[in-house]
Amino acid sequence: MGLHEITGRISAATLAAGRTSASVRLIAVSKVQPLERVIAVLESGHRCFGENRVQEAAGKWPALQDRFGKVDLHLIGPLQTNKARAAVELFDCIQTLDRPKLAETLARLAQERGASPSVFIQVNTGAEPQKAGCLPEDADSFIAQTRAIGLPLLGLMCIPPDGQDPVPHFRLLADIAARNGLSGLSMGMSGDFEAAIAAGATHVRVGSAIFGERTPAP
Ligand SMILES: *Cc1c(COP(=O)(O)O)cnc(C)c1O
Repeated sequence: MGLHEITGRISAATLAAGRTSASVRLIAVSKVQPLERVIAVLESGHRCFGENRVQEAAGKWPALQDRFGKVDLHLIGPLQTNKARAAVELFDCIQTLDRPKLAETLARLAQERGASPSVFIQVNTGAEPQKAGCLPEDADSFIAQTRAIGLPLLGLMCIPPDGQDPVPHFRLLADIAARNGLSGLSMGMSGDFEAAIAAGATHVRVGSAIFGERTPAP
């Protein structure tokens, strides 16, 4: 596959869902990919990327942005509080806000800097013990809390459990967003982005279908 094929499939799924083509944003997930593959996607003009580790992203994106210009960077992996400062300095959007302590830290950093990345709250739609994200039953109050401390909350993000039909998880996320007046829905990966778009995704996070399989980090 590759970027061109994926953007074509995204457009087709968006139109099939009766939505306008600008309503879905492609986040190219470049974690662990060899640099030459990332550069090839930059050279083809794409400017929106996702990374799941702060340190890895900090090692690669400042130089790439010097060379290719500003890129819209999304953090899609868990964020430890002690890496929050590095994260707000690098990322335009943090999609993995999942607990009050992190919200407080991000709000404090935003105040200090006079600027904040936009945020999505990650919801653990499958209530999986090993997975990050707030529980669905805690989402309404955490959304209210995040708004109350002034963070620019754009939407919700989920990673459905492996090996399950993702669609009920996409619907649950969309329901929570709708009842809280949130328009952003970050859901859908290489294997299910078309189903996510049908369920209302505004941001799809696609890695291996664009760049090829990841070789696991050592
Ligand atoms: C790695 C990752 C993706 C991309 O996964 P692919 O299956 O390669 O498309 C999407 N979202 C998150 C949170 C990820 O960690």
